[in-house]
Amino acid sequence: MRKIILAGNWKMYKTQAESLEFLEGFKPLLEDTPDEREIVLCAPFTALPVLSKNMHGLRVRLGAQNVHWEEAGAYTGEVSGPMLAELGVRYVIVGHSERRQYFGETDETVNQRLKAAQRHRLTPILCVGETKEQRDAGQTEAHIFSQLEKDLVGIDQGNLVIAYEPIWAIGTGETCEAVEANRIIGLIRSKLTDKNVTIQYGGSVKPNNIDEIMAQPEIDGVLVGGASLQPDSWGQIVNYK
Ligand code: PGA
Repeated sequence: MRKIILAGNWKMYKTQAESLEFLEGFKPLLEDTPDEREIVLCAPFTALPVLSKNMHGLRVRLGAQNVHWEEAGAYTGEVSGPMLAELGVRYVIVGHSERRQYFGETDETVNQRLKAAQRHRLTPILCVGETKEQRDAGQTEAHIFSQLEKDLVGIDQGNLVIAYEPIWAIGTGETCEAVEANRIIGLIRSKLTDKNVTIQYGGSVKPNNIDEIMAQPEIDGVLVGGASLQPDSWGQIVNYK
C-alpha cells in the first residue's frame, strides 16, 4: 500500500512566533481529516524546536528542508542528521530545485544528503524535475531519469519519498496538467525497484486544483510551498475530497 503524504514546504518563511500562530489556526481544521493521510510541515531550522514542543497530540509530522551528510564538523551554516533527529524531525526535503539552482547542490551532494537522512532514520523527500527549457526541448524524461539514476545510488527505497516538481511550475501559479504530472510520476515509478514509494507532485498546488491532482492514480501526495503558509489554504489542501 502506498502512503498518502501531504507535505508543506515553508521555505524561508515564518519566525517562531509566526509558526505558533499558524499551529493555533491549523489545529481545528484537522478534526475531520482522514486518518490515513500523513501531514508534514517542513519548517525553517529555527522554527523546528518550538514546533516540536507544541505539536504533542497533533497528527502532524515535522520535516526539515535540508540535512548535511556529516554528523558534525567544520561546515559553517549546515545542520546534521543527529541535530534534526533530536528534535523529533521525521522528514527532510533533499535536492529541492532552489537548493540545486541557488546553492550549488549537485546530484552527488544530493545523494550524500539522502544517505545521511536515512542513516538517522529521517525519511528524505527527494525533489526532481525539469526546467522550462528542458521541457521545451523534449528532455523532460531524460533529465528526470538522469537525476534518479545519480541521486538514488545506494539508497534504500523502503524509506524514501519522491516529489516530482517541474521547476517552471514552482511559485509561478502555472500548474502542470494533472494528467501530465500523473504520466511523469508513472514513469518515475517504472524506474524504481520498490513500487510502493510515495511519489508526490509539487508546483503551484492550491485549494482549487488539489482534488484533480489527488484523483490521479499515480499521485500519492503533494509538496506545497505558497499554499502551505496559511492555515486556511493548507487546511483545504489536507482535507481534499
Ligand atoms: P509552490 O512551491 O507550491 O509555492 O509552487 C512548491 C515547492 O517549491 O515545493
